Amino acid sequence: MRAQTDVIIKRKHAANIRKGYPLIEKEALLAQAFSAREGSILKLYDEDKRYIGTGYYGIQNKGIGWIVSTNPNEIMADDSFFKKRFQTAFAKRKDYIEDQETTAFRLFNGEGDGIGGLSMDYFAGYLVINWYSEGIYSFKPYVLDALESTMAFKGIYEKKRFDQKGTYIEDNDFIKGTPAPEPLQIKENGMQYAVYLNDGAMVGIFLDQREVRRLVRDQYANGKHVLNTFSYTGAFSVAAALGGARTVSVDLAKRSDEKTKEQFLVNGLNPEEHEIRVMDVFDYFKYAKRKAIYYDMVILDPPSFARSKKHVFRSAKDYPALLQQAIEITKDRGIIVASTNNASISMKKFKAFITEAFNKTQCSFKMHEVLSLPRDFVYCKEYKGSNYLKVVVIEVFHK
Ligand code: SAH
Repeated sequence: MRAQTDVIIKRKHAANIRKGYPLIEKEALLAQAFSAREGSILKLYDEDKRYIGTGYYGIQNKGIGWIVSTNPNEIMADDSFFKKRFQTAFAKRKDYIEDQETTAFRLFNGEGDGIGGLSMDYFAGYLVINWYSEGIYSFKPYVLDALESTMAFKGIYEKKRFDQKGTYIEDNDFIKGTPAPEPLQIKENGMQYAVYLNDGAMVGIFLDQREVRRLVRDQYANGKHVLNTFSYTGAFSVAAALGGARTVSVDLAKRSDEKTKEQFLVNGLNPEEHEIRVMDVFDYFKYAKRKAIYYDMVILDPPSFARSKKHVFRSAKDYPALLQQAIEITKDRGIIVASTNNASISMKKFKAFITEAFNKTQCSFKMHEVLSLPRDFVYCKEYKGSNYLKVVVIEVFHK
């Protein structure tokens, strides 16, 4: 039998949870002295002992667990619970599952699909499960059984993202089925990407930028000279190149060179016609400025936090300064694709960052498009942090 603990939730928090707020925060508990094991079922009651919801205990940096049901009779430690949530989630992605031109997408998106702390991605017939706490990991047998009966798959991998700092635990990530080829080739709106499902925390592509890559390829790339900063495996560079651009990719990770070349090659593009620079983006900005190199388009998709030898970059504080440097090497009428995945920066704040950055330059701007998460990344309206992606396409005017 799985352990179960009743907890009393403070009045203010109880009201939010009743409106759909899915996260269980430590400070929401009336009695702070509280002990439960990871994976314990938590039954939540208000101060008048009225039932609010059922959740599980699983420590993440955000909170201590997630509410997964508002039905007092529903049992979470059971395949039928997961089966029901998965069926609903997969039905919402029916068109993705059937799409021949896009074979990689988010299949299950945490609290957006009713179970915080758990997400799953689909890569050309293979599934990758992300576990964000030991608590949710303890439900693995139910999750696997439920998948067996709700989804056709060739093989399953997992990413355990729950060491003390909430980061990935290195392991053999293959769980069952047939192992995927390495690389596994996936398609996205007709583009090809090489991914590696058993090579650490990241597989080689961030699926949430799919529509941005399409936009870059179809509407902004043709004939342009494009700088892709924080380029990782060069996913944006490939999109721009397929749209008819000449690209420069900059990332300080050594492996980005070989990874980016591979993405060009699987698309039938010649990597020699593009530049790949393994270096610090901040140094590259200085270099481009000194050499008076100006770009038609700059893609700016930094991580929320990054530490290099010389810099610590925190997007919540340093984004305006980063954007300012990008503006300074963008041509008149050039485009900047500015993006952040930092959940703590709201769209409003992000737009304020953009204004702040331009105010420090001799340039003005016009916003052309504002994008956020694609439809497969179903988010929870009651929990702002789950709608984390902000992308703004900006035209730059030199005064
Ligand atoms: N924009 C990418 C994803 C970025 S992931 C995409 O669309 O696929 C973050 C990348 O930033 C990592 O590859 C990391 O190596 C790189 N990075 C972090 N700090 C950096 C810095 N100061 N200069 C260059 N690259 C950096």
